[in-house]
Amino acid sequence: MKRRTFFALGGACALCGCAGAVHQLPQISDNNLSLAQSEVQGAGGPPARRVLTDEEAGDMMRSALARIRPPADQLCAEMNVGVCQWNIRASANRSMNAGAGPNGLIFINRGVVEYAANEEEVCLVFAHEIGHQAANHVANNQRNQATGALIGAVLMGAVGAAASYRSPYAGTVTRSAADTGAAVGRSIGRISFSKEQEREADYLAAVILYRSNVDLDKARGMLVTLARATGRRDTGLLDTHPAGPERIAAWDQAVAQIRASKGALPARA
Ligand SMILES: [Zn+2]
Repeated sequence: MKRRTFFALGGACALCGCAGAVHQLPQISDNNLSLAQSEVQGAGGPPARRVLTDEEAGDMMRSALARIRPPADQLCAEMNVGVCQWNIRASANRSMNAGAGPNGLIFINRGVVEYAANEEEVCLVFAHEIGHQAANHVANNQRNQATGALIGAVLMGAVGAAASYRSPYAGTVTRSAADTGAAVGRSIGRISFSKEQEREADYLAAVILYRSNVDLDKARGMLVTLARATGRRDTGLLDTHPAGPERIAAWDQAVAQIRASKGALPARA
């Protein structure tokens, strides 16, 4: 049985009771899907990792989060169904993963930043996890609630908060977090969102980026990187986070709709 978290799209319904999306989401067109398939096939082998210092990774996380924070807060208040007090943490884990958990937890691994081609791609990852919280996906998923206590226990003191990078002791914090960060990643890996919830988190991420004036086309590169990385052990993704042309096609449909509506939310489901 595959475990799916941040980058999952598809197939998880059987595991999680088919928790749905808050909004009506656009259908993927065959044309968009075939374009995305060609793009991924032509994109070459596994993505390359940059080597960053703790400080560089932390700087980019803070900067990306700052760019999207006001519109993200506003969107969460506008939706008024989810968790809008977020406990955002950075992990020194070098696998390309991030996640959303109970009590507003959002974590992002340093590996996300190392594989990102630009800050916009990091913005997308933060905005996706914020989307899960804003739409209350964690609480709406019984399986996630069942694992909440375990995750809370593992996280206690486990990862350095993004803010801790400002500390003169930041290097110590992130290094000591490295081992426990892996444990956090494994535990968060037990959270499953449904296919519809994953697609909604991407849609909400695109709305947040649009309203933040973050270049949606640059951010999209993360989805291509993920598609290239799926199944590649050297990225740390393994098979827990399938992401491919379907997710890219859905993103393109979402972005077209968001641009046409000038950043409005779609109708409620
Ligand atoms: Zn997700």
